Amino acid sequence: MIKKVLVANRGEIAVRVMRSCREMGIRSVAVYSDADRNSMHVRYADEAYRIGPPPSRESYLNVEAIIGAAKSSGADAIHPGYGFLSENASFSARCRQEGIIFVGPDPYAITTMGDKIIARQTMIKAGVPVVPGTTEKLKDEQEALEIARQIGVPVMIKASAGGGGKGMRLVKHLDEVGSAFRRARSEAINAFGDDSVYIEKYIESPHHIEFQILADNHGNVIHLFERECSIQRRHQKVIEETPSPLMNPELRREMGETAVQAAKAVNYKGAGTIEFIVSDNLEYYFLEMNTRLQVEHPVTERVVGVDLVKEQISIANGNPLPFRQEDLRQTGHSIQCRIYAEDPDNNFMPNPGIIKHITEPHGLGLRCDGYVYEGYEIPIYYDPMITKLISWGETRVEAIARMKRALYEYKITGVKTNIKFLEKIMDTRDFIEGKYNTHFIENNEAMLHASRPCGIECEDMAIMAAFIDYIAKMESIQPPRYTDELGSNWKDFGRKRNVLRL
Ligand code: ADP
Ligand code: ADP
Ligand code: MG
Repeated sequence: MIKKVLVANRGEIAVRVMRSCREMGIRSVAVYSDADRNSMHVRYADEAYRIGPPPSRESYLNVEAIIGAAKSSGADAIHPGYGFLSENASFSARCRQEGIIFVGPDPYAITTMGDKIIARQTMIKAGVPVVPGTTEKLKDEQEALEIARQIGVPVMIKASAGGGGKGMRLVKHLDEVGSAFRRARSEAINAFGDDSVYIEKYIESPHHIEFQILADNHGNVIHLFERECSIQRRHQKVIEETPSPLMNPELRREMGETAVQAAKAVNYKGAGTIEFIVSDNLEYYFLEMNTRLQVEHPVTERVVGVDLVKEQISIANGNPLPFRQEDLRQTGHSIQCRIYAEDPDNNFMPNPGIIKHITEPHGLGLRCDGYVYEGYEIPIYYDPMITKLISWGETRVEAIARMKRALYEYKITGVKTNIKFLEKIMDTRDFIEGKYNTHFIENNEAMLHASRPCGIECEDMAIMAAFIDYIAKMESIQPPRYTDELGSNWKDFGRKRNVLRL
């Protein structure tokens, strides 16, 4: 039985995992770099161990230091969160060697799904539809050109080891194949230390729809329905929701079964996600599998009523899944917005710094998964995501209204954030109507980047206009004056409130 879990991560996801541990009566151990000494996950944990200097390579990716902390603390399991070591097969193997439970799949599943070329081969064998394209590494530019010609442009040249939207090039014309091939390859070697690239057909008007999977050690594999993740910037998700506005019950059943089949093909254990690209005419193709918990997992938790971290730990403990496929239902609608410390007016440049003031939203139908607090300095070394806002409503309309209300309540000063940008998305017609694909942000560029007059927000303008109007009315009745009895004009105005209303 797992009694103590070391969380090999930082930020919101580390806090998120520890929260479930606390509910389960499991002690949590934090690890931290020098840049995270004051971080919330360190404060929240029952114990904390320093693992190195700020750069990830020397801390959150430092396997020796993390294993060392696990041993010193006597942790019997390691939860990797997402990013960092979560999809590192040799780390999961190393945990096993050391007698520590890795809360995630075995090295075989991670290796097979972590390499997109091998994953494609495996899926084809399992009868899962993949995006048309190559199943071998491209040898050279010449071969890339020949294949692009056969498949027909547009195509994508993608890094086999890719992740986080990196190492991917869209090719619209055949004469761009050479440069796209070279760029994808150099990005791949720099980011992932592996220069393998392959080609697949570019699916036009693409929708990114993924299925959440849970698999135990007793042969049970189920899905927890879909997440719509087509609101993206640079191939990275910004807003996610479930159910998907594109989905229908028949397609949901079929894609869900396909996702289960994909997980079974690698003898998957734990929580994972099968990502699909879906075309406008509802043809779907396997894109990749993420063999870990995802950033957007809370929308599924809210609509299906399952704590995914608890299930991960329970599976790692060897328990069978506590429910069957037919027990699961989607109730209502949930939307997640990723809040980043970044400047949307300056090409979304990360904007780390000290949080001077923060008021987080609360109230019915809302979840706020974050880790920053007033006076906290967001380090420059890591991902600038600071919070995830998750709204729930009986209907999609209600979930959107709640999200708008939450974004309105959310106040942060000291660092720039994308909150206003997200508010504008909530007001966009295509989003409200649920008619969008992965081109949404570029298609609505003008609306989403519309500058506001004098840099003053509309809300402030409205308050100022109302105030000017109020003063004008006061002046027309009784010009403001200073009198000893009243003390000041402000008190004077205040006393007239009963007569004059805004
Ligand atoms: P999700 O589908 O959950 O949004 P992403 O692919 O966007 O997942 O990645 C989640 C997090 O993991 C992001 O912070 C991203 O930067 C990081 N990440 C993804 N792939 C890698 C990788 N190969 N190496 C390091 N970090 C990665
Ligand atoms: P990563 O590992 O970086 O998450 P994915 O293969 O999951 O890479 O693709 C990320 C995003 O890139 C997708 O959600 C989609 O928007 C876009 N994309 C990837 N492949 C294709 C494709 N063949 N056709 C259209 N869009 C694609
Ligand atoms: Mg992906």
